[in-house]
Amino acid sequence: MTIDLYADPITLTAALVDIPSVSRNEAAITDVVERALREQTTGFEVLRNGNVVLARTNRGLPTRVLLAGHLDTVPIADNVPGYFAVGPAGERVLYGCGSVDMKSGDAVFLHLAATVAEPVHDVTLIFYDCEEIAAEFNGLGHIERDHPDWLVADLAVLGEPSGGWIEAGCQGTLRVRLSTSGVRAHSARSWLGDNAVHRLAPILQRLSDYRAREVDIDGCVYREGLSAVRIDGGVAGNVVPDVAEVDVNFRFAPDRSVDQAIDHVREVFAGLDISFEVTDSAPGALPGLTAPAAKDLIASVHRHGGGVRAKYGWTDVARFAARGIPAVNFGPGDPNFAHKRDEHVPVDQITDVTAILRGYLTGAEG
Ligand SMILES: [Zn+2]
Repeated sequence: MTIDLYADPITLTAALVDIPSVSRNEAAITDVVERALREQTTGFEVLRNGNVVLARTNRGLPTRVLLAGHLDTVPIADNVPGYFAVGPAGERVLYGCGSVDMKSGDAVFLHLAATVAEPVHDVTLIFYDCEEIAAEFNGLGHIERDHPDWLVADLAVLGEPSGGWIEAGCQGTLRVRLSTSGVRAHSARSWLGDNAVHRLAPILQRLSDYRAREVDIDGCVYREGLSAVRIDGGVAGNVVPDVAEVDVNFRFAPDRSVDQAIDHVREVFAGLDISFEVTDSAPGALPGLTAPAAKDLIASVHRHGGGVRAKYGWTDVARFAARGIPAVNFGPGDPNFAHKRDEHVPVDQITDVTAILRGYLTGAEG
């Protein structure tokens, strides 16, 4: 199997969609991408690490841009091979698993690696595996451990779908388990017990009274949220329960650290007789749009009618931000179609994103 990096990125996207690459089964697509980078690009040092392929130029240019994309997809839903059709909005689209998330972004990066002869920035490319499953498997995480020297750049662009806009930064996430305790008793003699489920009431009241912040950072508005996501309690139909718990998820703007987010959630529930356990957390990422290397990219996006907005979900941009590298999501397609049976990407957006990045990499006012 081979792919042609010189082909139109739309054609290249379709070729990538037709190589199945569900998480943990990326060897075939990684082989194809590695061979194409070795045989069809010039001036790149190429490295293979597991099912991650890395490539970089070493031209000694003053700035370095890192382009990263995951090669894996969620499980196929009768949508491989892909096909071209007219989409719901009357535009020409490519349907198929991974067309949006994120083989169109991968295709743009691969095409530019082969066809940009004289970049004004040094370029690092990373195509990685296992983004769609638990973080411990994430190929980018393995590179952080095995080859941190490759994770150096003035700007990182993650080709996740963003509708051809720059989606900057990402929100952090925190999960906390709040537990109440009481005294177990027969419900026929309930006065002998102390009902732990009833003790959840003030927790739920504070959650429903909670007013989330909206924070503007670099012109991106992040809207926070504090939600009960699971509730558990009860022993049997005739027992006053002595234990109850509620899991709370806080999605927080990237101006708070994880520790500050924990302090904030503690404050929300201050004074209640509960136990408080942090079960999971991941930091957010500041948008980093004031970085000099980001400015030209933003200008290029504006010239093509796009703009800048906040990213709400958590993405691997946070890994780059944690290393001090400003990072943005920028790719073709609507992220709302990711992981869906009718996943599709408007082909014009593949063309636009290619043009914007080509302009950025060549220093042209394109
Ligand atoms: Zn993705």
